[in-house]
Amino acid sequence: MLVAVDTSPGTADALLGLKYSCWFCGQGIERGGPPSLSIALADIWKNDSNSEPTQVIYSHFTCAAEQMKGASRSLEADILFADDGDP
Ligand SMILES: [Zn+2]
Repeated sequence: MLVAVDTSPGTADALLGLKYSCWFCGQGIERGGPPSLSIALADIWKNDSNSEPTQVIYSHFTCAAEQMKGASRSLEADILFADDGDP
């Protein structure tokens, strides 16, 4: 029987899908709110994607787009959220 799980603040809620906090601004991410992302991180040189450790962070799209500007490219909302919004 599982008695207790020691995690960092917010991790248990995120794992249960109850509550997410933006990695960059620290504010809550609400379902139905502004477009938001889950971002999975992994060691690029490990080829076994089933067993390697992966960190997942959550972010508002606008926060990620601001903080993760590439040298030559940007995050692409029109691709990430192609099914959302007005036609
Ligand atoms: Zn944010």
